[in-house]
Amino acid sequence: MNVLDSELIRSSLSDAGYAWNDDASAADIILFNTCSVRGHAEDKVYSALGRLRDWKEKSGTVLGVVGCMAQKDAEQIFRRAKHVDLVVGPGRIAALPDLVGKVLAGETPHLLISEERLGGDPESVLASFEHYDTERHAAARPSQHQAMVRVMSGCDNFCSYCVVPRVRGPQKYRPSADILAEVEQLAKQGCVEVTLIGQTVNSYLHEGITLAGLLQSIEKIDGIERIKFVTNYPTDTTTELIDTVASSKKCLPYFHIPAQSGANSMLQRMKRHYTIEQYREIVEEIREKIPTAAITSDFIVGFCGETDEEFAATVELVRWARFKNSFVFKYSERPATLAAGKLADDVPYPVKQERNNTLLALQNEICIAENQRFVGEAVEVFVEGISKNAKKKIEQMPSETFDADAPYQLTARTRCDRIVVFDGSLSAIGKILTVNIARADAQTLFGNL
Ligand code: SAH
Ligand code: SF4
Repeated sequence: MNVLDSELIRSSLSDAGYAWNDDASAADIILFNTCSVRGHAEDKVYSALGRLRDWKEKSGTVLGVVGCMAQKDAEQIFRRAKHVDLVVGPGRIAALPDLVGKVLAGETPHLLISEERLGGDPESVLASFEHYDTERHAAARPSQHQAMVRVMSGCDNFCSYCVVPRVRGPQKYRPSADILAEVEQLAKQGCVEVTLIGQTVNSYLHEGITLAGLLQSIEKIDGIERIKFVTNYPTDTTTELIDTVASSKKCLPYFHIPAQSGANSMLQRMKRHYTIEQYREIVEEIREKIPTAAITSDFIVGFCGETDEEFAATVELVRWARFKNSFVFKYSERPATLAAGKLADDVPYPVKQERNNTLLALQNEICIAENQRFVGEAVEVFVEGISKNAKKKIEQMPSETFDADAPYQLTARTRCDRIVVFDGSLSAIGKILTVNIARADAQTLFGNL
């Protein structure tokens, strides 16, 4: 979500005549695009703002905080970091060029957030957010060949731990005609892979069109070869959706379906509206219909009142499901959520840490074993770009020695979203190729063209 928002911000500011600089110390304007899902991410932004205080005063640089933290903390940001000029919520980023202009003209500070403040009752929170479109220039995308396309904004689920509905507003689906027009435009610009995004992307429903219907229409767009979608709410993973992916040439067999916990009692406290039995049935249906599918998940450890038995159920689920990957988060209490009001954040930090490590160690074992199965196989990959190491090497190279046809380390992805590293020429970027896998570790497959 934030990467896409950053692209939109870059695009609208570029239109207004601003240019982008990778060197922050040379910038006239610095914007932090922020996340509020966990407290740690916010702490990092406050300390980064603190580090910029003296320098900002000397240089006169415009300093802004954008995104969910801006919506959530609003004026509090000006109190904690007096040198900030601009605070703009995620629903108001379309106004940024105008606001940046005002600040440059000396009108400071500026606050623009969606009307409803954190802490209001869910109904009024949902009623007061604005929405924005996602179209942006090819130049604002990090890759010419890949793009994210928002199919919905916000979320109405109010899981008890989660701040998202309060900072991103109500669930709203974009009309499918707009989404298809955007994907067609992307295909004309040379885009090969699109990722449809939404907090519960598989709940998509607009004028009778479901996510499966949308995928079937995108499938027909020439030039688009790969289609992904994130993030899935477990019980919105319908048979229609699984069958669509199973019979599609372009939809990748990759499902990110956050379980959050393996214990029904925890799921109830989290206000996740499914049981672990239902979750397992969904995994089984995917495995049966798409044996090559990769399934990934998110887990929160140390949520309010989590017992050893409840955590053991999560470990058991991970062992059973053999996820391609699990993202594990230590519970972080968020203001104005249902849990913060009603449940005690009572699992001691060292226990959260230990559970986090236990789950990651198990997932790591599974990743290694599952990745090893690819060794000796020829796999179809989409070449995404050049590896970080190779990029550094090229940057340090005198320009006369740079040879575009020489092999460089490239990164690619299998259809099941595994990362593959191999040597190839830069012209391979954006292409779909076959790579023989020679070795594998927990996160990466290494191979040869
Ligand atoms: N819409 C997605 C999740 C968005 S937030 C979904 O429902 O699956 C991404 C992940 O952050 C969540 O899946 C959850 O695992 C984690 N998360 C959310 N709130 C959190 C909190 N208060 N503390 C720790 N992790 C949290
Ligand atoms: Fe948060 Fe739940 Fe909505 Fe995901 S579905 S964004 S976890 S409230």
